[in-house]
Amino acid sequence: MAHLSAFERPNLLQKLSSEQYDLVIIGGGITGVGIALDAASRGLKTALVEKYDFASGTSSRSTKLVHGGLRYLKQFEVALVREVGRERAIVHELAPHLVIPEKMLLPIVEGGTFGKFLTSIGLMVYDVLAGVEKPDQREMLTKEETLEHEPLLEHAPLKGGGLYAEYRTDDARLTVEVMKTAARFGADSINYVEAVEFEYDAEGMVCGIVCKDELEGKEFSIKAEYVVSAAGPWVDDLRQKNHSMNEKHLFLSKGVHIVVPHDKFPVQQSVYFDVPDGRMIFAIPRGKVTYIGTTDTEYKGDVDHIVANTEDVEYLLKAIAHTFPQIKLEANDVVSSWAGVRPLIHEEGKSASEISRKDEVFESSTGLISIAGGKLTGYRKMSEKVVDLVVKRRYKDEGTKVALCRTEHIDLCGGEALPNSKAVKKYTKKIYKKIEKGGLTKHDAWYLVSNYGTQSKAIVKRFFELRPMHLAPIALLKAELWFTVHHEMVFSPLDFYMRRTGRFYFDIESVRSSKHVILEEFANYFQWSATKMQKEREALEVALKEAANFE
Ligand code: FAD
Repeated sequence: MAHLSAFERPNLLQKLSSEQYDLVIIGGGITGVGIALDAASRGLKTALVEKYDFASGTSSRSTKLVHGGLRYLKQFEVALVREVGRERAIVHELAPHLVIPEKMLLPIVEGGTFGKFLTSIGLMVYDVLAGVEKPDQREMLTKEETLEHEPLLEHAPLKGGGLYAEYRTDDARLTVEVMKTAARFGADSINYVEAVEFEYDAEGMVCGIVCKDELEGKEFSIKAEYVVSAAGPWVDDLRQKNHSMNEKHLFLSKGVHIVVPHDKFPVQQSVYFDVPDGRMIFAIPRGKVTYIGTTDTEYKGDVDHIVANTEDVEYLLKAIAHTFPQIKLEANDVVSSWAGVRPLIHEEGKSASEISRKDEVFESSTGLISIAGGKLTGYRKMSEKVVDLVVKRRYKDEGTKVALCRTEHIDLCGGEALPNSKAVKKYTKKIYKKIEKGGLTKHDAWYLVSNYGTQSKAIVKRFFELRPMHLAPIALLKAELWFTVHHEMVFSPLDFYMRRTGRFYFDIESVRSSKHVILEEFANYFQWSATKMQKEREALEVALKEAANFE
């Protein structure tokens, strides 16, 4: 039975500390949960520990695109474009409600990165490599057509544009759904448990981890035949603990996104545009807001606490002013933001934006397998690579054979019975028909389905139970909280607002207006003391302040 309710935590801890696993994974970002799903679905007894919340590292701080990586074509990383391009189509099929097709506009400007000819050829090569189907293939636009698609672009330097296929997602929800899907195959994943040390057998080989339960403070061990570290930006910390650092190490590159109300920057559609320093950034409309990113600068600060600063925000605002001169945005128009670091592999003499986004696997002499680099988009392939390695070792060690990877055919939670975008639209209409009777809107239906897919049904049922006692928006929030506490191991308001609902980034007003109710609800669910309540309230207030105030 899967232990996905927050109230099952004691049983889960008991299980983790008493059973012998085939594989334990450190890190509950997209890479770790992807490995858990791959391993568990091949029949390996799998455990996963995450020191904070699932997806709280890089996997909730990306541009939230499942993409083919057009910019890698510029660096001639053909194989990478081919792999991630194919992958995004697969991930869309596995969760079409969460990985949504989104046309991207690439304006062609005088003196820009790509001229008309190169854009046309580049996008065509991209379509071929990524296996894009006919109706979605690139479309070259005249200047007038480009302006029809996006009237806010500066007219004078514009020469035309290219429209190409991308997919939009919510990285944290994708991570949580992969984790939940892994649980269906028996993987035991837990958040707020840190791997603090490795355990070694008589031959000096890694045979488990010592863990600290961050909620209760207790230490315990998880025994496993194989240990994989998918700790993203923390991979080198664990390699150091394992005494297995070599000449290859991580290079952390900071990336910031800012969020402004859509009416302040009313782009009609997603745009990928040139910045004067030669980089390119995205402006992406999403419901009530537009988000803009990203920066790409070397980061040497505290990896456990990364925030946007004035310089990051200024850089992005300048970029908008350059390409969209009618838009007058200032730092105080920014309502939310997020910042993360890319765990890249250091390459001598290369700057942050020049370093390859390829993944890398490190194998230590004591048996620790570490994986870093890569993309959200490529998580399934990265996972396959790591589990293949574990399986190969197991065969060598014990002669036992394990099934081949089959995650290509495993629908993610919420994506079952939704074969494609058409089915998602139909399902959204159905949900809207139901919830409008309770006073919710079309936007709410879209929000529910794009976050939870077919799991919306359970939330809607709970919404109607709560509706007689509450106004519609509060009944919805409480229904979501009920769902995420019971099915997604939520323990704090920030887990809920940032990594289960995305409200912290895309509807921060709803966080401000509901925070007291939600804190009370948490206190009731978890029997919080006054001190705990105060601590959680403060953590939420600090996060709200940091999201929109920059130093
Ligand atoms: P993480 O998500 O960082 O996960 C590692 C986890 O390990 C963390 O949650 C951490 O808390 C945990 N951990 C660390 N140490 C321990 C320990 N001792 N015990 C237990 N747990 C531990 N990719 C795309 O495909 N599309 C994009 O649009 C995109 N945009 C990006 C934009 C930015 C600004 C950035 C920074 C990255 C972007 N990426 C994108 C890349 C993508 O986000 C990352 O490749 C991916 O999220 C990395 O996932 P991960 O699981 O390897 O690392």
